[in-house]
Formats: sequence, C-alpha cells, structure tokens
Amino acid sequence: MNSGIAKNIGVLGAGQLGRMLALAGYPLGNRFTFLDTTGNPSAGIGDVIVDPDNQHLAEFLAKVDVVTYEFEHLPVQLVREIEQHKPVYPSSRAIEVCQNRVEEKTLFDRLGIPTPAYRVVESAEQLEAAARELGCPVVAKSVTEGYDGKGQAVLKQPEQAGDAWSAIGHSQLVVEAFVDFVREVSMIAVRGRDGEVVFYPMAENQHVGGILRYSVAPLPDLDASVQQTADGYIRALLDELDYVGVLALELFQTRDGSLLANEMAPRVHNSGHWTMDGAVTSQFENHLRAIQGLPLGDTQAIAPTCMINVVGREGDNAAILALANTHLHRYDKAERAGRKLAHVNILAPNHAELLEKVNACSALLPEAPPPALSFSIKQ
Ligand code: AMP
Repeated sequence: MNSGIAKNIGVLGAGQLGRMLALAGYPLGNRFTFLDTTGNPSAGIGDVIVDPDNQHLAEFLAKVDVVTYEFEHLPVQLVREIEQHKPVYPSSRAIEVCQNRVEEKTLFDRLGIPTPAYRVVESAEQLEAAARELGCPVVAKSVTEGYDGKGQAVLKQPEQAGDAWSAIGHSQLVVEAFVDFVREVSMIAVRGRDGEVVFYPMAENQHVGGILRYSVAPLPDLDASVQQTADGYIRALLDELDYVGVLALELFQTRDGSLLANEMAPRVHNSGHWTMDGAVTSQFENHLRAIQGLPLGDTQAIAPTCMINVVGREGDNAAILALANTHLHRYDKAERAGRKLAHVNILAPNHAELLEKVNACSALLPEAPPPALSFSIKQ
C-alpha cells in the first residue's frame, strides 16, 4: 500500500530551521535535499546542493517530491519556476507577500488586521515629513531584505531622517509609529492541504537589538479573548493566501490588551522552537504533516515552557543539561557575534518555577541578556 507519505522533501535554504525540519521528518521516513543559494549552508544534515549561481536546479528537482522552504529571502522567480515542476508549499504568493513590507501591510489592512500607523517613503525628505506626521519616535525599515532588526533605524527626531536614510541605504522604506508595547507576542498556526487550521498557544517574545532572546508559552495572564482575536487574524491570513504549512505572525500587545501586527514569516519560526519539547506536536512535525497532506497534530502545550536562544557564544552546556526538564538543541555552527548557535527549552510545572530556572540558565550563557518577561513583574 502507498504510505501516503512523500519520501523526498526539498527544502529551499539550508540553515538551522532546515536542520530541525529534517530531524522532525526522519521518524516519518522522509528524506531531505536542501537547495542553498547563499553559499553558506549550515544544516549539516541530508543532501545539500550549494547553488549560488542557479546551475543545479534540475538536480534538485529530480531528487524531490514536494518542496518547502526555511528561508524566505529567495528570488520569487526561482520559487515560481520550481512550482512549474513540483508542488511547493507554501506557495510563491505567500513568499512574495512576506518578502515585502508594503505588500504585507497592504494585506493586513485589507483583512482588517490592525498595524502601527505607517507611511511608505522614497527619499530622505519624505522620511522627515512622515516622521513629523506620525510623531517621533518612529521606526524606519527597508521594504525588502530586512530581518533580525537589520535594515532599520529609530528616529527620535525628524531631523535624523538624512542620517537614517543613508544608514539604511534602500530606495523605499516603511516608516512606523513607535509602539509603546507591553509585550511582543507571536502566533504560530498551521494550515493543512484540506484547509484545516490549528493554532499554538500565543508566545511572549523578548528581543534585544532586534534578535529574539526568549520565548515563553503558554502565557499565565492571557485573556482568552486576546488569543481568539489573534487566532482570527492568522486564520484570515492563512485562508486568504490559501496557505499550506506553518505561518508565524509577530504582534505587539498594547496596554489596553489590543494587538497590532508587526510582520509575518512564511515558515517555521524561532518563536515556535519551544514546541519541540513543550507542545504535543512540534511546529516542525506539523509543517511536514501539512505539506504532505497528512492530518495535523495536537498543538496543546504540555507545560509552561521557555525557549532561550544561545547567541554569539555557547555557555556551560553540561551545567545547562543538569537543570531538570531542560533540553539543548545545538546547530553545529561556529561561534560568531550575533549568530544563533543553539537554543535551550526549559519546562516547569508552573510559571514561577519556570522563571527561576530561566534565570539559572541565563546565568550559564555568557551573552544572554537578563530575562525581562512581562509577567515576571507581577510575581
Ligand atoms: P522587525 O524586524 O520588524 O520584527 O523589528 C525588530 C524589532 O524591532 C521588533 O521585534 C521590535 O522589538 C522592534 N520594533 C519594530 N517595529 C517597532 C515599532 N513600530 N514599535 C516599537 N518597536 C518596534
């Protein structure tokens, strides 16, 4: 009998997200071929085709039954070409929207998903005018190619527009009102090929310098109506894009509890790494189930969980592993400032114990900033 399971999965991109997809796919009997267009693959698993000059596409296509990606900064044209030969999930349309902050915000607007007030500008003069109109501080972001806080500048005064424009160095920017948020949160949801949608509990995310450092889920103080609102936003996006796979939506939560969408990612996401140990089914397994047309797995949390990113330098790994119910996931990468090298997932029976363990773990990581999660203030 046909197993109903695709044997060979093609992945565009070959970083740690691809590595973790493969780790989740081996129990299902999947095999993985990665197409790396950057020249710097780090997956360290499966077959990796390094192809910065687009010479080996036929070889890649011959090896795979279904294609997905772990990196969205790819030429849309390449994804469209692959779509002519093999099923690609999510589609090139999803990647196109997520690559471009103007397209993304236009879609949020059309679906009634609130965002920070914003303007699109194409010169330093327009940037200055937008900063005056929106009221400083504002955040200017390149429309394309920005991630982990790159291609961004905060303007405290409109007069800083000239410097910010040169520093970012792009021809089109989105300028946003700076949100005085209580916390940053994210939603991870999965849509199957049959349109079924499942949602993970919302996570709180702490970023420092634009890089994610801590994610916690589920949240002890989350109003059910806020989770429902977020579920509604991400479902609207998934349905509109006829999306298949994991979608991540990052949001700001403001003082009155309302949510403003920041950006989305058409792939498994760093703020969903907690699900590897903290949820019944991980985001990676669910992404693979979705793209193969298989039933989706339970997204419930097993226990309060915190994910800590190991950035720049590794810590005392043996001491970390000595903490109860703590799991280390290393990416086999050399140490370098600002580079994500690994993450730690910590589980605890309640949030008070979780925070104690998170503090203990962060003390073992030389580059970890102190955890500053919104609910720790109320302990
Ligand atoms: P992004 O690349 O858009 O996710 O931005 C990186 C980080 O910059 C976010 O996670 C926030 O911490 C911060 N940030 C971005 N946009 C805003 C905004 N409009 N208001 C306040 N903080 C922001």
